Amino acid sequence: MPDPPAQFPSFPRLLGSYGGDTAGPLVIGIGGMHGNEPAGVFALQDVLHNLHDRRPAFRGTLLALTGNRAALARGCRYIDEDFNRLWVAERLQEARERHAELTSEEREQRELLTAIEAALAQRQGPAVFLDLHTTSAEGQPFVVIGDSLPNRRFASGLQAPVILGLEEQLEGTLLNYLSEQGHVVIGFEGGQHASPDAVQNHIAAIWSVLTTAGCLRPQDAPEKTPPEQPVCPVVEIRYHHLIQAGDDFVMEPGFTNFQPVRRGQLLAHDRHGQIRAQESGQILMPLYQGQGADGFFLVRTVRWFWLRLAVWLRYLRLERLLPLLPGVRRHPDQATTLIVEPHIARWFVMEIFHLLGFRKKRHRAGKLLVSRRWHEPGAFEDGESNP
Ligand SMILES: [Zn+2]
Repeated sequence: MPDPPAQFPSFPRLLGSYGGDTAGPLVIGIGGMHGNEPAGVFALQDVLHNLHDRRPAFRGTLLALTGNRAALARGCRYIDEDFNRLWVAERLQEARERHAELTSEEREQRELLTAIEAALAQRQGPAVFLDLHTTSAEGQPFVVIGDSLPNRRFASGLQAPVILGLEEQLEGTLLNYLSEQGHVVIGFEGGQHASPDAVQNHIAAIWSVLTTAGCLRPQDAPEKTPPEQPVCPVVEIRYHHLIQAGDDFVMEPGFTNFQPVRRGQLLAHDRHGQIRAQESGQILMPLYQGQGADGFFLVRTVRWFWLRLAVWLRYLRLERLLPLLPGVRRHPDQATTLIVEPHIARWFVMEIFHLLGFRKKRHRAGKLLVSRRWHEPGAFEDGESNP
């Protein structure tokens, strides 16, 4: 069968860069990790044009890269496998040593990783990554971060709801991989795939990250539109509907991001029957496209009291007391990881871990591993800069 017609011209891996004359942060913007999400690529091109036209003073470097080039050229989410699910250290190592044929996405990964590592090797300041996506459902933009104070600071400049806890649900994302190396990483979902607003939202997000990083003085960024919501909520993932092969998952029509749903409400169908909301909350990323394994998420707003409390507890470094809890001990090799006996990891213990920024969960040999994000020393004066 002939290939479907190309949707977009072939984008280069390196979209462009700006700055580099004065030491400062390295901001790496990545668009099109999913090939049917070109809005981030267009936004990065727009910001680079603007910077090269006006030539404002700039500390550090902005580097703009494309994600899945082959899928972008075809306008589909991916060619062989989801490019945003294969960023796992063991898998990278295995693909690096393998001489057998690589999948289309493994080839993309090699190239993208080479570009990222080359930029990191030359930088003269902390690195910040901005991973630009769009969703198949309609709705307002939102931010996805690992839960650390520097990540929260960058996210709060974006004037969009912040999603915590996605890394507990999705393994192998680029965001998780780069976060584990100690970088600030911001995932930004700019709106629906084809909506012109999505490009504008991404452009605003890039300027915001450049000013928060201190690359650009705020007055040198284009005029900001006033925020739609003066205070943006922080929401936590409560439920993730993962689709298995052959499920024939079909979302009920008409759901938008952050639409409230009631417990028991019909959300979707698959070959097992009806899929209803497990609890009341808001729906996020309902799947309205053929490719993808995440049917939908249910989220719930985190109250401001808990968010403020979490900030204070982390400034006080109370996480150092966690190994005093029964059944909790430090990981012998990883300073930011704790090993928890599963029988004591009841809900209230997990809530304490969440408050102190421990979120990532893995089960290994009958034990639960929780980790908190860390950042390089001196990266955006945060107080969490160890190990
Ligand atoms: Zn995406």
